[in-house]
Amino acid sequence: MSRTFSAQFLKLLPSVHELSEALEIKEAEKRNKLPFKYTRKLIRDKIELFRTQIIAGVTTAESKEEMSNLVIQAVLPEMEAVRYRLKPVVNATGTVLHTNLGRARLSREAARHVSEAALSYSSLEYDISTGKRGSRMSLLEELLTEVTGTEAALVVNNNAAAVYFVLSALAKNQEVIVSRGELVEIGGSFRVSSIMEESGARLIETGTTNKTRAADYINALTEETSMAMKVHTSNFAVVGFTENVNSSQLKRELNAHGREDVIVYDDLGSGSLYPFSSDNIGDEPIVGKVVKNGADLVSFSGDKLLGGPQAGIIAGKKSLIDKLKKHQLARVLRLDKLTIAALEATLFEYLYGENPKQNIPAVRDITKTQGEVKEWTEECTASITLDRTILTPEPSISKVGGGTMPLAELPTYGFYVDREGMQAAAVEKFLRTRKKPVIGRVFDGRFYMDMRTLEKEDWDAAAEALKELDEL
Ligand SMILES: *Cc1c(COP(=O)(O)O)cnc(C)c1O
Repeated sequence: MSRTFSAQFLKLLPSVHELSEALEIKEAEKRNKLPFKYTRKLIRDKIELFRTQIIAGVTTAESKEEMSNLVIQAVLPEMEAVRYRLKPVVNATGTVLHTNLGRARLSREAARHVSEAALSYSSLEYDISTGKRGSRMSLLEELLTEVTGTEAALVVNNNAAAVYFVLSALAKNQEVIVSRGELVEIGGSFRVSSIMEESGARLIETGTTNKTRAADYINALTEETSMAMKVHTSNFAVVGFTENVNSSQLKRELNAHGREDVIVYDDLGSGSLYPFSSDNIGDEPIVGKVVKNGADLVSFSGDKLLGGPQAGIIAGKKSLIDKLKKHQLARVLRLDKLTIAALEATLFEYLYGENPKQNIPAVRDITKTQGEVKEWTEECTASITLDRTILTPEPSISKVGGGTMPLAELPTYGFYVDREGMQAAAVEKFLRTRKKPVIGRVFDGRFYMDMRTLEKEDWDAAAEALKELDEL
């Protein structure tokens, strides 16, 4: 019974060709400069969706014309949306290194260098001075050793890969001592113990969750020990009665016990190159200091506090880095040229730039004072006139994010958005689904936009979205 019923409606479905010729579709295609094939794909997907809905008995239509119109109305909004799934968004959450929103943004110069490397052939593996084959690994090494103060360095795809690489290449089938207080999980997917297991290194736990002393490491030593690993507890803090050994103390103790052979490896996580603590923000160690103080190897992310592209930087003793360079995994985990370009420009800015604090967005946004954000907020709210929407400036707290400096609170400024006759959840959804989505926070039952991470273009897009909200 229902089968014949739905079959009759199925006959009303238009063909892809018919719809792609419809006037409204043609106009939208032209306006949004969409390729013909892409329009057809959107239409095909919607027809399929309607087909399943008809079979499920959800959709009915009286005529072929009515059915066509239903499909057209469903296709049109998708033609208006940006065609890519990876969309730029406005980050008004107040979390600077928002993991879900892509962590660090690149500097303009880094983006320019990426585009240059993308559009042109490059000296990726070509030595221009000799005309012979060059090495991509050597492109960044000088900048890295200079900026970290180490003998040698190497970069892989991300810091999780760096940790895996170091353990696998230097400690496979051997023992690695880690404090129980540092067996962390970061971002729900990076778990030290699991990576260790995958790498083939044997995890030897020592100490307790809140206290681990140098003697605990010494007691855990055996003939099989190849490494003592420190892991920065990036995304949580143990407070109260705690004790911890830094890598320099650890190196000294190991030497004092005749174990110079044991590699001290410090997974720094965020690896800042800017001294945030001098702006009274957190107590994140500067990479260069950790190395100078005794770690044989360190690793850290490129897109956390450093403010560059996703990458895992490994720096330290030349003999160890040389071993890594020769390992097969160096090839497996190697960087692509776009990342190399982005990292090169970012490191260059730290070393020789006019003003890394201003020019590297992550550093600039983290170090902005509340007064600066307040001034910017007021400038923005004064520039827009709304009828049924009220923007109420209000101080708040921003976070660094990216699993770094969990306790650091950055006093900030922004505003509540109250739209007549609309709940906060509806406002949130409306702004989130604009052409350039605006992502904020709902608290105290109101939608709030933190202005710390908005640049001029971000505000222009947000202002447009707010006007649309107002005129809804
Ligand atoms: C973030 C983090 C990682 C993982 O780094 P990715 O660059 O995200 O792969 C590893 N270790 C620590 C301590 C971290 O904080």
